[in-house]
Amino acid sequence: MLAGIDVDPEGLFLRIRNLLNQHHDLFSFAIPLIASENIVSPAVREAICSDFAHRYAEGWTGERVYAGCQFVDEVELICIELMKKLFRADFADVRPISGVVANLTLYTAFARPLDTFMALSVATGGHISMAPLMGKSGVFLGGTAGAVKGFNIEYLPLDEGEMNIDVDAALKKIREVKPQLVLCGASVFLFPHPVKELVDTVNEVGGKLIYDAAHVAGLICNGYFQDPLREGVEAMSMSTHKTLPGPQHGAVVAKAEHEEVIKRAVFPGLTSNHHLHNVAGLAITLVEMLKFGKKYAGQVIKNSKALAESLYESGFDVLAEHKGFTESHTILIDVANLKDKVGLGADVEKLLEKANIILNRNMLPWDVREGRHYKNPGGIRLGTSELTRLGMKEGEMVQIAEFMERILLDGEKPEKVREEVKDFRSEFQKVHYCFESATKAYEYIKIH
Ligand SMILES: *Cc1c(COP(=O)(O)O)cnc(C)c1O
Repeated sequence: MLAGIDVDPEGLFLRIRNLLNQHHDLFSFAIPLIASENIVSPAVREAICSDFAHRYAEGWTGERVYAGCQFVDEVELICIELMKKLFRADFADVRPISGVVANLTLYTAFARPLDTFMALSVATGGHISMAPLMGKSGVFLGGTAGAVKGFNIEYLPLDEGEMNIDVDAALKKIREVKPQLVLCGASVFLFPHPVKELVDTVNEVGGKLIYDAAHVAGLICNGYFQDPLREGVEAMSMSTHKTLPGPQHGAVVAKAEHEEVIKRAVFPGLTSNHHLHNVAGLAITLVEMLKFGKKYAGQVIKNSKALAESLYESGFDVLAEHKGFTESHTILIDVANLKDKVGLGADVEKLLEKANIILNRNMLPWDVREGRHYKNPGGIRLGTSELTRLGMKEGEMVQIAEFMERILLDGEKPEKVREEVKDFRSEFQKVHYCFESATKAYEYIKIH
C-alpha cells in the first residue's frame, strides 16, 4: 500500500527518523503501564547497537561453527554464569531469541508432537504461546503450542475468586488426562502458582512440570514471588524484557540433567543466529540485577500494591482485594462498571492514551461467559516495572491513580490531564537501578 507514501528515498528516510523521534518524545512524557514492557539502561542500549548485532555464532560457546567469535564467546559465557547464579540453576541457555522461542525450546526438549499439554487458557491469563491451533468454538486461534507442536491442549482450571490455578480441580484433571507436559505461569500473573502442590501428581502420571517466567523472571531472580526450580519444576522459560529489565530476548534455566536436550532444542532446533547483541545486553542487565536487583524488585511490588490500593480507594474494581490485589508487578481491573460512562477495556485504553497514560485492555476470566470479546474485553491490565525503573515510588502511584480517576470516573478531558501528566513525568527522566549515565531514559541517540 504505497498510497500516501512519499517514494523519494531522502524524504522517506527523514520521515522514518522523524517518526522514531516522535516516539521517543511520546515515551519521555508518558506514564508507561504495560505490564510486559520495561526500559533498558543506557549501558544496555549501547551493547545492543554494538557490532555483535551483525554476527553469527551458531553452536555452543567454544564450539562455534563460525570464526570471529572469541569475544562473543566470552560475553555469552559471562551471561550464562550470571543466569545460573541469579536463578540458582545448574544450567542456563541464553540463546532463545524470545519468550515464545524459550517456550518452544521446552516443548521440543520435553514432549513430542500430539502429546497432551496443560496450561492456562488465554482467557484465564495464559499466553498465546500455550494455546491450541483451534479454539473450542471452532475458530482459528493459531496458538503456538497447537500450531507448531500439534499438542492436544487441556486447560488448567482457574479459581476466579483467588485469581490462581484451582489446585483440587487441576489435580483431578491431571489424573484424568495424564499430560506429558504441564506449564505453570501466565501473562496475567498476580500470585505465585501452586508448583509444589502440582509437581508430584504431574510426575506420578509420567509428565513433566515446567514454568513460564516471562513476566516474573525479574522478581524471581531477585528472591521475590516464588522459586520454581526449588519448588520442583524441571525447567523455566522466560522473556528477558518484562520484569527483568533487559533487551527483547529469551532464556531457559533448568536442572543439570536436561542440558543436552535443551541445547539441541535451541540449536539446531529453533535458532540459527541468536541475536548476540541482545545476549550482550542481557549480560549487562544481569550485572545490574546482581548489584541493584533486590531494591528494584522490592520496589516494583511495593509500587503495584500502592497503585492497586489507590485505584481501589478511588472506586475502581481492582481484582483480588481480599488477597492484597497482587504479589507481582501486575494489577487487573474490571472496568465493566464503566460501560455506560466510558465503555469497556478497549475504550478505556484509548481514552487514557489521549492523556499519555499507556496500558492495555485485557480479558477477564469470565468475559467469554458474559459475551465479551478480546477486542473489547471487560478488563485492563497495569504493570509497574517501567515506572519503577524511572525512579517512581509509592507517592507517585497515588498521583497516577488520581490521573486515572479524573479521566475515567470524573469525566475530565484527557487532553487537559495530558498536560499535567507531562509535567509530572518531567522529573523522571533517568533510568534507575543501573550504573550512572548522563543519557536520559528515552533520549534518541543519533549515530548517523
Ligand atoms: C510475553 C509472554 C511470552 C512471550 O514472550 P516474547 O518474549 O514476547 O516472545 C511467553 N509467555 C508469557 C506468559 C508471556 O507473558
